[in-house]
Amino acid sequence: MYDLVIIGGGPAGLTAGIYAQRSRLNTVLIEKGGVGGQIALSDVIENYPGFPSISGSGLMEKFEEHARGLGLEIKFDEVINITLDGKAKVIKTPEGELRAKAVIVATGAKPRRLGVPGEKELTGKGVSYCATCDGPFFRQRPVMVVGGGDTAVKEAIYLSKIASKVYIVHRRDKFRAEKMHQEKAEATPNIEFLSSHVLKEIKAENNVVARAVVQDLKSSAVKEVNVDGVFIFVGINPTTDFVEAEKDEGGFIKTNQKMETSIPGVFAAGDCRTSPLLQVATAVGDAAIASYMAEQYVENY
Ligand code: NAP
Repeated sequence: MYDLVIIGGGPAGLTAGIYAQRSRLNTVLIEKGGVGGQIALSDVIENYPGFPSISGSGLMEKFEEHARGLGLEIKFDEVINITLDGKAKVIKTPEGELRAKAVIVATGAKPRRLGVPGEKELTGKGVSYCATCDGPFFRQRPVMVVGGGDTAVKEAIYLSKIASKVYIVHRRDKFRAEKMHQEKAEATPNIEFLSSHVLKEIKAENNVVARAVVQDLKSSAVKEVNVDGVFIFVGINPTTDFVEAEKDEGGFIKTNQKMETSIPGVFAAGDCRTSPLLQVATAVGDAAIASYMAEQYVENY
C-alpha cells in the first residue's frame, strides 16, 4: 500500500510529488499522457516568479527534473476510478489496482468545445485547440481565434507572428484576459478584434477550413471571413469524471482551504478544483498545501 497516490503530472501533480518526496511519503504519480500538463503546450510563460520568460515545456521539464531528482516514481497509466475499501483508497487503472492511504487529484482540465457546425468534422483540418501545436501550419495565412480569456488573447499574439492575419472573435466588448495581454494584442497590427461577434459555422473547401461565418451581435449582421484556421479557446473542462467527490456545476472538484475534498484522505489541487484563478503559480500553491495535508492524514492513519 502506498502512502500517497498523485493523479496527474502537470504543475500541481509534480509539485505535490516534490513535497511528498521531501516528507518521505511512499508515493507514486500516475500520468495518462506526457508529463507537463496543458501548460507544456504554452509558447511562453511570463508570470511564473523567477522566470521572466520561459516556454511552458521548458518550465515543466524543470519541474519534472526536480521531482525525479528527489526519487519520485512516475507511472504512465490512466485512472478509471477511485473506490474506497474501508479507509484505503483503491485506484483502478487498465493495468490493475493500486492501494493508497491518501490520494491527490491533480488531473487539470481540457479545452472546451464550442459546438458549432463544422467544428467537430474539421478538427485537425484547420480547427485547433492548440496554437503552439498547429500554428506553424498557417504561415502567412489568415486565421481566427475564438474567445476573450487569457488563452485566446495570448495565443492570438503568438499566432500573429506566424499567420498573415488573426481575427479575434469574442462574444462581448469586455475581455477577461489580463490587461497586459489585451494591450499587447491591440498594439499588434495584424490582429483585428471582432468584439460582440460569435462564430456561427466553420465552412470547408476540399475538406479543409476555408471560411468562418460570424454574426455581429449588435447589428445581427452575418458575414463570412476567409480563414484557413480556426483556433478555439473558450475555456476548459476539468478532468474529474472518475472521482466521486463533490463538484461544482462546471465539474470542478470542491475543496476547502486545506485542499480536502468531500472524501476524507482525497485532496485536489490545480485546475481540476474550484478556484478563482487557474495559473501555474496557484496550482503550485494548492499542491504544496495538499501534500502537506496528505502527510498529516497519513501520519494519523
Ligand atoms: P476563460 O478565462 O474561462 O475564458 C474563456 C473565454 O471564452 C471567455 O472570454 C468566454 O466569454 C469565452 N466563451 C466561453 N464559452 C463561450 C461560448 N460558448 N461562445 C463564445 N465564447 C465563449 O478560459 P481560458 O482563457 O482558457 O483561461 C482559463 C484559466 O487559465 C483562466 O483562469 C486564465 O486566467 C488562465 N490562463 C492564464 C494565462 C496567463 O498567461 N496568465 C494564460 C492562459 C490561461 P465571456 O468572457 O463572455 O464569458
